[in-house]
Amino acid sequence: MKEMLKVAIENNYAVGQFNINNFQWAEAILRGAEEEKSPVILASSDRIVDYLGGFKLIASTVENMVREMVITVPVVLHLDHGLSVERCKEAVDAGYSSVMFDGSKLSIEENIRQTKEVVTYAHKNGISVEAEVGSVGGTEDGIVGGIRYADSNECLRLVQETDVDALAAALGSVHGPYKGEPKLGFAEMEEISELIGIPLVLHGGSGIPEHQIKKSIELGHAKINVNTECNQVWAKTVREILTNDQELYNPQSILVPGMEAITEVVKEKMRLFGSSNQAC
Ligand SMILES: [Zn+2]
Repeated sequence: MKEMLKVAIENNYAVGQFNINNFQWAEAILRGAEEEKSPVILASSDRIVDYLGGFKLIASTVENMVREMVITVPVVLHLDHGLSVERCKEAVDAGYSSVMFDGSKLSIEENIRQTKEVVTYAHKNGISVEAEVGSVGGTEDGIVGGIRYADSNECLRLVQETDVDALAAALGSVHGPYKGEPKLGFAEMEEISELIGIPLVLHGGSGIPEHQIKKSIELGHAKINVNTECNQVWAKTVREILTNDQELYNPQSILVPGMEAITEVVKEKMRLFGSSNQAC
């Protein structure tokens, strides 16, 4: 992921991270990436890793899928919001190419200490690490959390002391749907980006207006996470199909349009983030 984000920063675009909510999500996202000729980050949020079948099943399935679908664009498999040092290590061992350690609920000292432990283990295995400073907040997988803005000095300390590869600095984006227009802290974003000199990650990328996305990329965001919008379009599509035909039970007729809807959102985001045609 470190390499992927470096190229993105140099060429003024961001790579989308799209979350897997079952394996049809992975298939739909990979198809979108291949059609758009875009690099892509597939992610599993730690909270649903067990529901998906565990780290090993996820890593081997994604690997096989990439091979079976003859995917030619660069693909990263990333652990989103790793819940503990141990869980991050498990993901590394299972074959993930990138992990996020989410120490946002810890004191900055403890966040730095544990992030460093993850970085040491991951880098030894050639795996990238993302950390979080402040707290993104919002609703994700049923967990509701408060927003706490990232402090620029804490960001600098964490980056210098841990050698992390990318940083999620909480600056007003939230997980789940937004109430009204999101207000991102662009002044703080510019300050932090210049200070730390590594790519920023935007969590809660669903529902942020285009001009704010473009500005976030200009100000150092090389990775933008999208989950809610894919899930909403999937649910809407499947709901409509089932409502319109009360007798329908053939799974393919229900699930394939849901997957196609996800692919369309993925492609739209790739065009918006500027990553389309960057994998040629
Ligand atoms: Zn997140």
